[in-house]
Amino acid sequence: MTSGNGTWLIKGARPASGPQADLLLSDGLITEAGLRLSAAGAQVLDATGLIALPGLVDLHTHLREPGREDAETVQTGTAAAALGGYTAVHAMANTDPVADTAGVVEQIWRLGRHAGLCDVQPVGAVTAGLAGSHLAELGAMADSAARVRVFSDDGRCVADAVLMRRALEYVKAFDGVIAQHAQEPRLTDGAQVNEGELSGRLGLAGWPAVAEEAIIARDCLLAAHVGSALHVCHVSTAGSVEIIRWAKAKGWRVTAEVTPHHLLLTEDLAAGYDPVYKVNPPLRTEADVAALRAGLADGTIDCVATDHAPHPLEDKETEWQVAAFGMTGLETALRVVHLAMVETGLLDWAGVADRMSIRPAVIGRLNGGGAPLHGCALEPGSPANLVLYDPAASSVVDPAEHASRSRNTPFAGMELPGRIQATFLRGVPTVIDAKLAR
Ligand SMILES: [Zn+2]
Ligand SMILES: [Zn+2]
Repeated sequence: MTSGNGTWLIKGARPASGPQADLLLSDGLITEAGLRLSAAGAQVLDATGLIALPGLVDLHTHLREPGREDAETVQTGTAAAALGGYTAVHAMANTDPVADTAGVVEQIWRLGRHAGLCDVQPVGAVTAGLAGSHLAELGAMADSAARVRVFSDDGRCVADAVLMRRALEYVKAFDGVIAQHAQEPRLTDGAQVNEGELSGRLGLAGWPAVAEEAIIARDCLLAAHVGSALHVCHVSTAGSVEIIRWAKAKGWRVTAEVTPHHLLLTEDLAAGYDPVYKVNPPLRTEADVAALRAGLADGTIDCVATDHAPHPLEDKETEWQVAAFGMTGLETALRVVHLAMVETGLLDWAGVADRMSIRPAVIGRLNGGGAPLHGCALEPGSPANLVLYDPAASSVVDPAEHASRSRNTPFAGMELPGRIQATFLRGVPTVIDAKLAR
């Protein structure tokens, strides 16, 4: 890399929609877009053959700091995010201490600013200590420097209908949203894998689809009743897609996400009892995967969110029953979506930009109101948050190359298409030549 004046000229990238164009990045913004641009002193990046997408936005990341720095830190997690093409991630609240006060969310927000690789937007807990008994300080977190707008007890379900109602009512005042981990606790007591023929054969407690669907249906009705915004985390069943489609048809303020792993993997992988495939909610059937893909394609499911859930080896490389739930995902998400959605003809690149950047930025309230802007079209005046992706590349996933502190990716050894060539955060490269720029 040559030294320059901080201005970058990206030559020949293909935007998600529209013709090939050069992009000039200066002072954190896209200042020009067009053919045959030139700029004295600019560093030039030849992006011929690469697709330019707005920087990806993850609504659902577990960064583990504070409390489980052996699994991930804000530094390692945002490095993984940048390598995956992300410029903003929402950090889930199930840390230790729990992100349930203004003090803790501001601490996480500051750690993100210090790392500087990716904007970190803390998610606040819905209930104090994730204990499900009384509401956390939602207003104080909203008013804090971290300006929290998304609240979730993720990892746990807000099972109490009265608390869920109060939370939905409370966040209306500041245009917040409650992101629900939909898991009816009694129906999933001890559950290990999707309930069905396979769970019986493996002798593992089944996790019925209805445990997810019953909560989603209840919460859609509650959101409609109080006129507030509900976001459904990691939708995993065909029935859930149907319920969300119904709620949206009613005009209710319901949005939803699906993970890359639920778009590609099925429950059969659990047959070998390898805990790398143990995840919450569990991998489901082929019919569920087909319904999730169709739901993402038609917009019933708004976005892809990673549910990046790093765990140290000792928590994963153990017997199935006691292993931790969760998979890493930040570094592979775009490539998995490429395989599951683009190569199948279900989404084009404009659709990928919509589902992985534009819509999650809207749901996460990163598209205005004083937040750093994300999910913007790549045009003059927009913040220079973007990812350059090589769709013609392909490689076998090697977790040893990942920046995440944890290695629990279910895609290890799998050939995936694509390569995240470069990521820019407000005009500054965080990734160049598929490596961290600093
Ligand atoms: Zn969850
Ligand atoms: Zn999660």
